[in-house]
Amino acid sequence: MSCIFCRIAAGEIPSDMVYQDDEFIAFNDIHPQTPVHILIIPRKHIVSVAELADEDVPLMGRMMAFAKRVAEEAGVAEKGYRLVINMGPDGGQIIMHIHMHLLGGRKMADRMR
Ligand code: AMP
Ligand code: ZN
Repeated sequence: MSCIFCRIAAGEIPSDMVYQDDEFIAFNDIHPQTPVHILIIPRKHIVSVAELADEDVPLMGRMMAFAKRVAEEAGVAEKGYRLVINMGPDGGQIIMHIHMHLLGGRKMADRMR
């Protein structure tokens, strides 16, 4: 298993886990861009938004609901936060296992980044 996020999900690589259930894991980003910067991943290996199969659509809906719970746990639900999924080179995706960035703890400087 060479995918770093699959290895984090399997517990083979340590991570600063904040929340998990049977389908998703949330852990702190090692290079936080904001006071709260959490990565949310499905345990299932899906490469990117571009690789989503029809059967993955309900899973992605549940990932959004999971993100909402993570935001509540992280204490940013009231003031707000940003959810970002990068895709491909222009989107800035580096890790090829689909993930959502939950960014919060400060007001975003720009509407899009
Ligand atoms: P992306 O550019 O959307 O692919 O985001 C990848 C993110 O993963 C970056 O924000 C990295 O800082 C983060 N990252 C990479 N390796 C790890 C790791 N082992 N634990 C936590 N975060 C990581
Ligand atoms: Zn993976």
